[in-house]
Amino acid sequence: MTAPVTTLRSQVLVVGSGAAGLTAAIAAARNGADTLLVENAGFLGGISTTLPWLGFHDRDYRLIVKGLALEFAQRLQAQGAASAFELDPKCASAISIDSHWWKILAMQLAREAGVNLLLHTQVVETLRESDRITGVVVENKSGRQRIEAAVTIDCSGDGDVAARGGVAWAKGRTGDGLVQAPTLVFKLGGVDRAAFVAGCKVPANNYREWLSPFPELWEKMMRRIDRMQVIVCGGYAALVEKARLAGELDVPQTRIVGVKLHQPDEFLVVMTRVLGLDPTNVHSVTDAYTRVYGQIPGLVRFFQRHVPGFAGANLREIAPMLGIRESRRVSGDYLLTAEDLIAGRQFEDAVSMGGYHIDIHRPAGTWVDSHNVRAYTIPVRSLIARGVDGLLMAGKCLSATHEAVASTRVIPICMGQGQAVGTLAALAVKQSVAVREVSLPLLQDTLVGQGAEIGRTVGEPDRRAIEEVGQLPFNEPPTTGDKDPVSASETAWVR
Ligand SMILES: Cc1cc2nc3c(=O)[nH]c(=O)nc-3n(C[C@H](O)[C@H](O)[C@H](O)COP(=O)(O)OP(=O)(O)OC[C@H]3O[C@@H](n4cnc5c(N)ncnc54)[C@H](O)[C@@H]3O)c2cc1C
Repeated sequence: MTAPVTTLRSQVLVVGSGAAGLTAAIAAARNGADTLLVENAGFLGGISTTLPWLGFHDRDYRLIVKGLALEFAQRLQAQGAASAFELDPKCASAISIDSHWWKILAMQLAREAGVNLLLHTQVVETLRESDRITGVVVENKSGRQRIEAAVTIDCSGDGDVAARGGVAWAKGRTGDGLVQAPTLVFKLGGVDRAAFVAGCKVPANNYREWLSPFPELWEKMMRRIDRMQVIVCGGYAALVEKARLAGELDVPQTRIVGVKLHQPDEFLVVMTRVLGLDPTNVHSVTDAYTRVYGQIPGLVRFFQRHVPGFAGANLREIAPMLGIRESRRVSGDYLLTAEDLIAGRQFEDAVSMGGYHIDIHRPAGTWVDSHNVRAYTIPVRSLIARGVDGLLMAGKCLSATHEAVASTRVIPICMGQGQAVGTLAALAVKQSVAVREVSLPLLQDTLVGQGAEIGRTVGEPDRRAIEEVGQLPFNEPPTTGDKDPVSASETAWVR
């Protein structure tokens, strides 16, 4: 017998509690809306809980993501659970956070704001009346519930609400629809920091390939590296090649990608990898999990045997979910493009900012493709779903091309979008109007009044930081490495 479906009501409904959704829910609740946050997992924060946060700054080392994202970072720093900002010529800036303390703080922040929660709850249907999205149906241990809302915000990372509601979306790159390669990250503990840093200083290891063509940048990094709390790595190609040739490593990756975290003995490995994933196909996702778990033992042994500083390292933590870099992108009133980012476009309807480089983990190859960008704004139109009322989106599923989302996807930039949509939803509810009818100056002034940066107070390049850290040329040479050798075995899940 089917149990009757309970109906819940909320003014604002947020689906997904990652960097974008958590921030959206907190912003909506702080702005007075009755807010419900629905999350499939048993914790808040999504994939942001296991990664350093990159991209608060632009390439001129100006702080361009402020507001709630900065508040979260500062609260973690104040409790000793995050590093200081570490400036970096490729990523602009990084802070390393303590995963567990971020999960605890995320829950505390949501409760302080008065956000209502439904955990271990999955959206299975979208409610649509004509051209209006009116909520969702969820399923959990209690059965099925209908949730009706004035504004629904899709922060599922997969555009689940939009897709189930018949809203247009796109996935992957234009040619073949493939998305960026996913990675299950894991942490190694017991790292000898001094030996690791000594290894970074050996030019032959080439621990950070971006820098090696530019001796001046390399010198500057070497002057700082002993005191750096966060060290981003992308290199050691010869070591990886040696291990692959010796049959010790079987991962479709040719570089060490990872981050020396602020805890002196911890390193985050970002090297498991599956090519040809379809993040909306459960067989593909299951196959990806099987493969990445199988890659971890070989990677741990590789670090222990070959990488300076890791002889005594051990496996400390595996991320609670596969890191999916890209999935459905919901079609919005505006499609943000790589050209917008590269030009550093300042939109009239700007509601947040970004400045992280375009960072494409090749969908069917190894290593990355990258392009630098200038500090850009994100227009509210790219956060409003096209063709319907009542649906906003933020984070990985904003309206952007495959290339543009490769920049907007980093954690602080997702949080900036989250603050924008949460605030917009609350204003719409307060005024009993559709989201498109909220006055733009009111939205922008509210965001700025609550600390967000929308391009009004960015200021001049930080000359002192540029001098100390250095800058990569805007049009640096393309990255090397193989391009897209999709093999039959890599797409074995395709039915
Ligand atoms: C391997 C990897 C490494 C990265 N490294 C960095 C880095 O070092 N620094 C950085 O700043 N960024 C990094 N990024 C990018 C960044 O972490 C993510 O793009 C960003 O956190 C995405 O946030 P989000 O809120 O859009 O999505 P997510 O964090 O994916 O959150 C989506 C949430 O929605 C929930 N959900 C999904 N579907 C449903 C449903 N149907 N019903 C209910 N809940 C649902 C999920 O459980 C999840 O909690 C990395 C990404 C990956 C994958």
